[in-house]
Amino acid sequence: MDIATFAVVYVTCILFFNLLYLSLLAFGYYLYCREVFALLPQPYAPLWHQYTGAAALGACLLLFGVVSVSDPGCIAADSLAAHTALYPAAPGSQARSCWTCGWYRPARSKHCPLTQRCVARFDHYCGWVSNAIGLRNMRWFLAFLLANMLLCTYGVVFAVLVLRGVALRRGIAEAVYRDETTGRLHGLTSSPRRVIEWLVLRYPQAVMLTLFMAIAGGLVAAFLSYHLALTSVGLTSYEVMKQQQALAVLTAEAKVEAMWQA
Ligand SMILES: [Zn+2]
Repeated sequence: MDIATFAVVYVTCILFFNLLYLSLLAFGYYLYCREVFALLPQPYAPLWHQYTGAAALGACLLLFGVVSVSDPGCIAADSLAAHTALYPAAPGSQARSCWTCGWYRPARSKHCPLTQRCVARFDHYCGWVSNAIGLRNMRWFLAFLLANMLLCTYGVVFAVLVLRGVALRRGIAEAVYRDETTGRLHGLTSSPRRVIEWLVLRYPQAVMLTLFMAIAGGLVAAFLSYHLALTSVGLTSYEVMKQQQALAVLTAEAKVEAMWQA
C-alpha cells in the first residue's frame, strides 16, 4: 500500500469511527429527550435529571476529546533514554529496532503504524478515539470507558423509572389479561412478559432505546473490566496478544513434532 492510499484509508477510518460515536451519542440523546424526558415529571424521576443527563453526556464528550488529543506516550529522541530506563529489558532478551524511527525500541514499546510513532507501553490503537493508547493516556482511556458505562447505566435506570411511572399512571396495576389455556383472568403485572409487551406497544422507541443502552453499557463494561484486569496485573492487551501468538506457535510446533515422532 502506497502512502497516499494509506492516508486515505487512515482518514476514512478515523472519520467513520469518530462520526459513528458522535452520531450515536447525538441521535441517542435526541431520542432520549423525545421519548423519555418528554414523559417527565414522574414519581421517582424529577425534572432535574434532564440537566444531570446532559452533564453526563458532556462528560463523555469531554473525555472523548481528551483521549483523542492526548499523548499516548510517544517516544522522541530526547526522551528515548528516559523511556529505555523506565522498563529495563528482560535478561537475555534482545533490543528490537524501529526502522522508521531509527533507534532501538525501549522494552514494552511498539511502533504504532497509524500514528507513525513509537509509543511507550503500547496497548492498542483505538479507532473510536483515533489515537493510540499507551503509557500516558491509559488512565484517560479508562475514564472514557467508565463515563460511557455510567452514562448507559444512568440512562437505563432512569428510563425504567420513567416507564414504570407512566405505566402506573395509565393503570397497569389494575389491568388484567386472560390466560389462553385456562381462560382465567390474571393481573397484568404478574407476568413480566405481558408488562414488556404492554410497554412495547405503547412506548416502542423508549423501550428499544433502553434495550440498546443496556447492550451498549454491557459491552463497554466488559471491555472496561478486561482492561482493568490487565492493568491490575501490569500487562497490556498488546502483550497478551503477543503471548497468545507465541503460545499458538509453540503449540503448532509441538503438534508437528508429535506427528513426525508418530
Ligand atoms: Zn518507531
